[in-house]
Amino acid sequence: MYIDVNDISKRKDVCKAINISIKPDDILKEDSEIKVLDNIDFEGKIYMDEDIFYLDGKISGLLALTCSRCLEGFDFPLNIEMHEKLSLVPNDEDDSIIFVDSDKINLNELIENNILMSLPFKKLCSEDCKGLCQSCGSNLNREKCDCENGNVDPRLAKLKDLFFTD
Ligand SMILES: [Zn+2]
Ligand SMILES: [Zn+2]
Repeated sequence: MYIDVNDISKRKDVCKAINISIKPDDILKEDSEIKVLDNIDFEGKIYMDEDIFYLDGKISGLLALTCSRCLEGFDFPLNIEMHEKLSLVPNDEDDSIIFVDSDKINLNELIENNILMSLPFKKLCSEDCKGLCQSCGSNLNREKCDCENGNVDPRLAKLKDLFFTD
């Protein structure tokens, strides 16, 4: 969805409510490790002060992520506060202001970026996920294998995480 900023900049006192629902197929398509399970909702508002647009709201939805240790998918509910400042004029002093070089703001893209930034660096199904057996590949959260190194040394597990970050 695009927001036409002309609408807002013409009348400075306007505060426009935004309520949208983005279908799973229309967002986060690039990343195969992230599945969107349900519509992503955005509820918020946009208003202008001086020459800056303020876009505030809440993002909610449900993703499925892939655990970096055991490679199983797990549910990841979204509940993100979004606060963006945008401007049609470049601002060198404040790098938190996003420069918009058209009169339409791409809301999907902003929401997508906010979601990506909110995701944990290391995606784990649970803090104490035991991961996969190094030898037979069994998921050690669910089964015990007979491999001698079935119980991965916690230090090794840490090392493994280092190499399998994304
Ligand atoms: Zn896991
Ligand atoms: Zn094993």
